Amino acid sequence: MSRGLGTEFITSARAVVADPQTLIADGAVVVGDGQILAVGPRQPIKRRFAGVVEQVLEGQVLLPGLVNAHTHLELSDLAGRIPAPSHFTEWVLELGALSPASGRTDEAIAAAVTAGAGQSIRYGVTTIGDVSRHCAASRRALRDGPVRVVSFGEIMALGRSRNRLEARLAGASEWGDESDFLSIGLSPHAPYSVEGPALQQIVRAAEARHLPLTMHLAELLEEREFLATLGGRLGGDWEVMRRLNLLDADIPRFADGPVAWAEHYGLLGAQVPVVLAHLNYPSADDIDRLARCRAAVAFCPRTHHYFGHDRQGRHRWREMLASGINVCLATDSLASNPDLSLLGEAQFVQREYPPADPRELFSMLTIRPARALGLARHIGALAPGYRADLVAMPLPAEVSLSIIPVLEYLIAQAPSAEQVWINGGAAL
Ligand SMILES: [Zn+2]
Repeated sequence: MSRGLGTEFITSARAVVADPQTLIADGAVVVGDGQILAVGPRQPIKRRFAGVVEQVLEGQVLLPGLVNAHTHLELSDLAGRIPAPSHFTEWVLELGALSPASGRTDEAIAAAVTAGAGQSIRYGVTTIGDVSRHCAASRRALRDGPVRVVSFGEIMALGRSRNRLEARLAGASEWGDESDFLSIGLSPHAPYSVEGPALQQIVRAAEARHLPLTMHLAELLEEREFLATLGGRLGGDWEVMRRLNLLDADIPRFADGPVAWAEHYGLLGAQVPVVLAHLNYPSADDIDRLARCRAAVAFCPRTHHYFGHDRQGRHRWREMLASGINVCLATDSLASNPDLSLLGEAQFVQREYPPADPRELFSMLTIRPARALGLARHIGALAPGYRADLVAMPLPAEVSLSIIPVLEYLIAQAPSAEQVWINGGAAL
């Protein structure tokens, strides 16, 4: 059976989850030219599309491909290599020792990226917001698939390295590898590696080119002290910072913490999609600030746990959602997470933050991250006109056919995908 681009086919299954609210028992999805043409109950679909070849998935559920808005595929060769650190700053040292920025070949980066993309697909993830410091190599490895990627080129520009901003911006904005699978974005790295005026310049460049943005923000408690004084665990006291010798008197100080800083330098109000990774340490004022802008938050639950942030208090994702902030679940990289399963993240949240509505959690793996990446109405749901990114997962006969039990089963079991299509083409 041909299931490639340009062909029409029907895939029917015991159940189709079209979106977090909608389950169609004995449902079918019609695909043509890489897009979804129709979704509905199987028999009417078969009458309407008589003659179109049908694949029947026995004992399976069809879902929209899951969307991971924040990971670093180039670190996919580091699974299990770094024991849980006592602090993030020690993890960076370990990471540097295992994966020296200058000593990694393009082949090693491509192999790591390809392994991470393959693992993502096996977990039913069809779109990835991939932050890449080595974006020339990673984009080359990803431009022809297998997964849909928004490739955020990572940029650092702090103190004595600020003169390299233009070159880094040009490298991260390089669009030659854009394809049906790959689009590009920009990632100013973090408040302790990008100074405010550089952030402003990156935001302006993104707006001029309509590129989405992502940044690690309020991930660490010490960002506030760093921004205010350039001191503390992320500043003068950090071996990495001393070795790099970047800090100088021209870095503007900022007293009100990283979220206000990001607002001040234009990131929160940017006229392009913005994904803020982590937001582990927001103040009440910060949540108000975020609620006034369109930037989304990517909460990475198992990475939050790995770094011990839960010892300082629970993540405030629920409060953020209640304030109207678009929060999604993401994995971060295999250097801080055992795997790239998004359903595994939802399972962790279900266990650690009960009670969580499975429909809400599923929206945080599908429509919310799709919107965060600027891809709403293209991916994240099964509806006519959306890209044909579909995932088939097992659905045992004892699971009753309504939305809550089916989503509860998927989150409790976090099964691997049995089949995956991206742009209508078989990816698994
Ligand atoms: Zn990250």
